[in-house]
Amino acid sequence: NRTPLVAGNWKMNGSRSLVETFSHSLNAQSFEGLDVVVCPPDGYLSMFNNEHFSLGAQDVSHLDNGAHTGDMSTDMLKELGAKYVIVGHSERREDHNETNLLVAKKAAKAKQAGLIPIICVGESLSVREAGDVKSFVGEQIAALFAEMTSDTLNDAVIAYEPIWAIGTGKTATPEQAQEVHAFIRKTLTEHDEALAHRTRILYGGSVKPDNAKALFGQPDIDGGLIGGASLKTDDFMAICQAA
Ligand code: 13P
Repeated sequence: NRTPLVAGNWKMNGSRSLVETFSHSLNAQSFEGLDVVVCPPDGYLSMFNNEHFSLGAQDVSHLDNGAHTGDMSTDMLKELGAKYVIVGHSERREDHNETNLLVAKKAAKAKQAGLIPIICVGESLSVREAGDVKSFVGEQIAALFAEMTSDTLNDAVIAYEPIWAIGTGKTATPEQAQEVHAFIRKTLTEHDEALAHRTRILYGGSVKPDNAKALFGQPDIDGGLIGGASLKTDDFMAICQAA
């Protein structure tokens, strides 16, 4: 069945010494039947010693190498050791005006290059309060199929991160999260049943050691995308153990 996955998104945090701490602690652990991924800022990727876990980037260009100042290509990320790449995080959608179409292009580019995209979707508080979660998230998922087929989406990971739960300490309840995860899987089913069955859907938003188990216990939650708690080895390992 689906191998659970826990990915830490360091965002714009970290240091050489944190890289060393994580390399040491995570390699001292063996993760049976669980994929563990750390996504630091790009400059730190090659400083890791990651025998027992994988590395991911937090964003990637949808373009090939060339005149695109400040961007990183799939080739570069692979050379630096990344196996995964987060695309469409709500902070990038907001800070850099990334649209559903651009996110789909990035996911397609990553897949084409052999990276595993972790594609983020999720609604703001105002969308939730208006009762529009499904139409909003449904549109974000539908946009993927404009650039990708169910074949190219194969092995991609989806992360449901309600914006109101990110960094706020307000987690979606396991039931609230499960409802949206089930909806996402149903939406995938409409395109391809096998794809829907295979695709790992992660939950992100204030996941902590004390709420991880209940979230990961839901039938359609296949792991987590962890922000704040991924910067502390003890918390991150406890969350991994809950998956
Ligand atoms: P927090 O775990 O800090 O809420 O962040 C979640 C997130 O955005 C992971 O990508």
